Amino acid sequence: MKDGSPEELLGIIGGMSWESTASYYREINRRYNERRGGHHSAPILLYSVDFAPIEAMQRSGNWPGTARTLISAAEALQRAGATVLLLATNTMHLVFGELTQAVALPWIHIADATGEALSRDGVKRVGLLGTRFTMEQQFYRDRLAERFGLEVVVPGDDDRRTIDETIFSELVHGRFTDKSKDRFRSVMKRVVTAGAEAMIFGCTEIGLLVGPEDSPVAVYDTTTLHAAAAVDRLLPEKGE
Ligand code: GLU
Repeated sequence: MKDGSPEELLGIIGGMSWESTASYYREINRRYNERRGGHHSAPILLYSVDFAPIEAMQRSGNWPGTARTLISAAEALQRAGATVLLLATNTMHLVFGELTQAVALPWIHIADATGEALSRDGVKRVGLLGTRFTMEQQFYRDRLAERFGLEVVVPGDDDRRTIDETIFSELVHGRFTDKSKDRFRSVMKRVVTAGAEAMIFGCTEIGLLVGPEDSPVAVYDTTTLHAAAAVDRLLPEKGE
């Protein structure tokens, strides 16, 4: 840091949903301040998209459309001076390849932040909760398998439907009910019975509903791990 301007400026593409982007903002600043103390807070640019068209394109399978929207957001962040980018949702990493090709800045992949923590702890088989896209398509599971040698266990058909519906009809709207909490707890039990040694909260709103106390095994919350990876990038030297 020379004349008060930061060496790294974190660009966040958020709004998917804004409920979880608020958690990112709080968590990044909390961790940053924990490391630097005083009145320090993280240098951040936030581009928060309108989730409605993104959600509609997800539902209709218009992934190229979602990529175009997110590429314009990334370009705006680059023009504004961001030096490193983060996409604050698991699901939209489905178009990560398109984004990184279009905007040549360093990007912090959410599954890498998560996979690194899991391999550090020696986990081999991990449960994955997320949207149906994240649980069912290959983009996320393959990255965890290929880069970190993880075997991913997803919930069964009915449980995947329950999790996905709860995310889109409740969690992204900031609705958190005891009934849904109980459902998530039961799903996690079944995923553990199916062999998971740990649980990925692979949707950035899940940690707003349930926590480590609701899981029979250790929890890896993608929101906090992604936020921690961002702070490591902003403050690479320990004890700065
Ligand atoms: N925030 C969610 C995720 O982490 C779901 C919202 C979306 O579909 O983008 O996957």
